[in-house]
Amino acid sequence: MHRFSLVIIAICLVLVLSLGTLSITACTRTAYQDSFWAMNTYMDLTVYGNKKVLAECIKLAADLDRKLSVTDPASAVYALNKQGTPVDDKDVLALAQAAVRLSETTDGAFDVTIYPVSSLWGFTKGDYHVPTEAQLAEALAKVDYRKIDLSNGRLALPQGNQIDFGGIAKGYLGDVLKRYLVAQGVKSALLNLGGNVVAVGSRPDGKPYRVAIKDPLGEGYVCILSVQDVNVVTSGLYERYFLQDGVKYGHIIDPFTGYPVNNGLLSVTVVGEVGTDCDAYSTALFVMGANKACQVAKALGLQVVMVTHDTLYVSATLADGIQYQGQYASYKVVTL
Ligand code: AMP
Ligand code: MG
Repeated sequence: MHRFSLVIIAICLVLVLSLGTLSITACTRTAYQDSFWAMNTYMDLTVYGNKKVLAECIKLAADLDRKLSVTDPASAVYALNKQGTPVDDKDVLALAQAAVRLSETTDGAFDVTIYPVSSLWGFTKGDYHVPTEAQLAEALAKVDYRKIDLSNGRLALPQGNQIDFGGIAKGYLGDVLKRYLVAQGVKSALLNLGGNVVAVGSRPDGKPYRVAIKDPLGEGYVCILSVQDVNVVTSGLYERYFLQDGVKYGHIIDPFTGYPVNNGLLSVTVVGEVGTDCDAYSTALFVMGANKACQVAKALGLQVVMVTHDTLYVSATLADGIQYQGQYASYKVVTL
């Protein structure tokens, strides 16, 4: 072949190859976004390079919500709580197994059998009120994760004991969605599941995602974390609470007293690979209070950002890339 023709073919090949790469890059960088309501919260998903997966993600969230809801008479957990009907659904079993394991590692600060108490305060239906001591004692006697029976491939409870997956369900949903997206070949996605953020991979340009931790006292942010391929899960008093006689009662309950936690912590964020675990730990550390939570976070190797009125407790592994915002830039920082 003529040398000139060879050069032309070579140039064409380079052009075709680079155009191909360009269109692949452009395609994987296209952001597809959708938002919806599930598990009593607003969820927002951004997936890069694949629009089709969004609908399935929303369906997965709705399906899980339908199984776990404590207020929907059609849910498996509702039937378990109301009639003691054992559940053999695989998601419910996986959640219950994880819940028991995480109750053990947190010495019961996380206790998924909290439902008799959380419903007594009105946190499950929104009919908030302060119960009497007698009511509380009666409800508290029914809280004990060790009563959960997982034998014979199903979840069962003694009569009177009831389940509330509210402290762990969004974390589990994050794990389910991430597994599905990765199986579909998605390399980049940012899932905001109402206080639980899942960063799938890194940003399409290869840089880490910037995930902000909400200011528990106002509209702004405590700090911004640079993260990739992790969950950033926050428990906060500001999420759900009611006021009575000037006292603020939040939705996270101390399973040892039956009272909403009021120990000076304003928010607890846990960063880690398994959303289910991060979610249970954020709730449990919140129950423990700053001092015990610092010890436990260190002992278990958890990555945390914990906020009180004047101090931020931050794991050394997160401290490097963190950017404090507003008033929080002048807070005392204790590095764990
Ligand atoms: P989170 O926002 O993940 O901290 O979860 C708070 C929710 O978990 C509450 O709304 C209750 O449904 C449930 N919950 C409250 N206290 C506890 C507790 N000590 N252990 C387990 N779940 C709890
Ligand atoms: Mg939680």
